[in-house]
Amino acid sequence: MSKVALVTGGSRGIGAAISKALKDAGYTVAANYAGNDDAAKAFTDETGIETFKWSVADYDECAAGIARVREKLGPISVLVNNAGITRDAMFHKMTPQQWKEVIDTNLTGLFNMTHSVWGDMRDAKFGRVVNISSINGQKGQAGQANYSAAKAGDLGFTKALAQEGARAGITVNAICPGYIGTEMVRAIDEKVLNERIIPLIPVGRLGEPEEIARAVVFLASDDAGFITGSTISANGGQYFS
Ligand code: NDP
Repeated sequence: MSKVALVTGGSRGIGAAISKALKDAGYTVAANYAGNDDAAKAFTDETGIETFKWSVADYDECAAGIARVREKLGPISVLVNNAGITRDAMFHKMTPQQWKEVIDTNLTGLFNMTHSVWGDMRDAKFGRVVNISSINGQKGQAGQANYSAAKAGDLGFTKALAQEGARAGITVNAICPGYIGTEMVRAIDEKVLNERIIPLIPVGRLGEPEEIARAVVFLASDDAGFITGSTISANGGQYFS
């Protein structure tokens, strides 16, 4: 029987590429999403991958959603914490609400999701957790105090949990993407993209979602069993941590 992989925010952008790549690698994939039913339906129609709606920011919804996935597909062997949001503002204008929403989704979401799969992974003496952080969690970014704090927190979470999971056969790793050509990034004004963003990227282009997805497939594989607590930077050379 194939292993079950759950990808949060798995119906759009980088998450959709991750869901597809895991399916192609032989996993039974469940893709979680928050609210965009049309995108989720189009994704399932295109890929045959089942989607499940709940917010990673809510602990009880995560526990109930994971129980639903478990009942339908079986215990989860691979968890990809990919769901993320931005609520950008310069700090002097940032509202408590903007801070809270980003921390709740991008940081607490990792606790909420991982807590509910951890027991099964420990029982199975096997598990793979891959956290999608960001270059901006490594280097910081003006206008993103909330996002940078959450994404840096994801890296601390990864390292602590890697130590706890090691003896139980569970690896926990993070990937820090740089600028990836998702809808969100391609929506940036072309002039800004070409004159202010791409020149910062030594390889001279945006990354592709599939380039992140292939790194996830590797970290999820048996071949990556000795890699835990690591951060893979996939940013075209923009920042070396
Ligand atoms: P998108 O905005 O394209 O997609 C985000 C996905 O996350 C959607 O499926 C969305 O669901 C889901 N989501 C958002 N909030 C929640 C929530 N509370 N509960 C469950 N699902 C949720 O994002 P990207 O593909 O661009 O980004 C994916 C990850 O990669 C994020 O963590 C982001 O921070 C990180 N990243 C992205 C970079 C980039 O250049 N794009 C660079 C560095 C890091 P729905 O469809 O229902 O809205």
